[in-house]
Amino acid sequence: MFNDSLKQLSDQLSAKKISSTELTSDFLRRIKQLNPEYNAFITINEEMSLAQAQTADKMIAAGQAGPLTGIPIAQKDIFCAKGWLTTCGSKMLSNFISPYDAGVIERFNQAGAVNIGKTNMDEFAMGSSNETSFFGSVKNPWDPAAVPGGSSGGAACAVAARLAPAATGTDTGGSIRQPAALCGISGIKPTYGLVSRYGMIAFASSLDQAGPMAKSAEDLTLLLNVMTGFDARDSTSLQRETEDYGRDLQKPLNGLRIGLPKEYFAAGMSNDVASAVDKALDEYRKLGAQTVEISLPNAPLSIPVYYVLAPAEASSNLSRFDGVRYGYRAESYSDLADMYRKTRAQGFGAEVKRRILIGTYVLSHGYYDAYYIKAQKLRRLIAQDFTDAYRQCDLIMGPTTPTVAFNLGEKSGDPIQMYLSDIYTSAANLTGMPAMSIPIGFGDKNRPIGLHIIGNYFKEAHLLNAAHQYQLVTNWHLQSPI
Ligand code: GLN
Repeated sequence: MFNDSLKQLSDQLSAKKISSTELTSDFLRRIKQLNPEYNAFITINEEMSLAQAQTADKMIAAGQAGPLTGIPIAQKDIFCAKGWLTTCGSKMLSNFISPYDAGVIERFNQAGAVNIGKTNMDEFAMGSSNETSFFGSVKNPWDPAAVPGGSSGGAACAVAARLAPAATGTDTGGSIRQPAALCGISGIKPTYGLVSRYGMIAFASSLDQAGPMAKSAEDLTLLLNVMTGFDARDSTSLQRETEDYGRDLQKPLNGLRIGLPKEYFAAGMSNDVASAVDKALDEYRKLGAQTVEISLPNAPLSIPVYYVLAPAEASSNLSRFDGVRYGYRAESYSDLADMYRKTRAQGFGAEVKRRILIGTYVLSHGYYDAYYIKAQKLRRLIAQDFTDAYRQCDLIMGPTTPTVAFNLGEKSGDPIQMYLSDIYTSAANLTGMPAMSIPIGFGDKNRPIGLHIIGNYFKEAHLLNAAHQYQLVTNWHLQSPI
């Protein structure tokens, strides 16, 4: 059962072979047994999860069940969930019980899904290894010496270790796709604006986008169908007709043109990753696709551009954590200014402080034009490169990450090396285009490798189709570490 797809779980629930209460209890038991080892969850709330399971069982009995009714979903601790501790991986929110539900949480609740717990993450989603979490790092279930990736490291670990059938993540520069790749699961970052950011604690608002993480592309379609949709409370939410993201899953890939950016197949990618990507591309050719070399000349600037824009937006977004409005407040202080200073000094970790300092610097008078405006201009050029490339190809493929999962502690002292983990992923956030990662094999030390698939705006169904067709003829997505 722990290896079952969402469709299989849903079928068992509607056939009354198992109740949601039983299913939820089974996953809770497994979490209790294994979470002390992995640290994938920050909060488990048995009572609240089981109450939702009971509601789901009533919906099923009344014949009102949808595809996710009764299914436990692990929620990243960046989503406000009413009555749940919502920490965003930070000491700053370590005592914050949310009084309301995020748009994403509301949608899962309406679908009758069960919140099985809040997953660990890098503090305020800043990181690529889950090591910046106030609640400690998460272990990669394939190898406890390795990081799970970040910032949605708890989510990726939970799905890979079968502690939850599926999870939510958020992706500002790669935080769904990079941990998915390092933990051997599937994950998609949708087009910017498709999923509501309401109640999703903001890191860099123009880049942040939530998406699902699961074992397979087919599972992702069911999750995306629930997660997407207009929300008037998010000013960048898109008003579009609802679509079924699974509608094209069965389409053959004959004639698919896959663009291979020469900039992504250059130095920097390790040999094990390169050979797994080559094999995956061979598989795609067998499925009827053809590959064309393309060029994205400005894409190599994605990391420097990202590390101007993301900290700039973060420095503004994080100003709300002042000891007055939410969460942590320093215990002793002399006056208001001292309270702000001490609260922020004690409540934020080192990486968050680094981002606030960089952000404040690039936005400051005198540097604004040289850094912030320049980065915005480059962001536009990067987007133009992708738009141009889609004249020659339908989808773009390459590695999700330059290497397999690195060791815990290996990069935590070297921020630049850490930042380079997102070298292939951050462009999709800068452009707002959808992108996903699927497992395609194992490399050094038997650690998982991911294939990155990028598409033009609103091509989610096409990405998922390409991923599903590959998963029909391979079984990497079915492997589990335990
Ligand atoms: N690793 C990147 C960062 O640290 C991206 C994180 C994310 O996507 N939330 O900012």
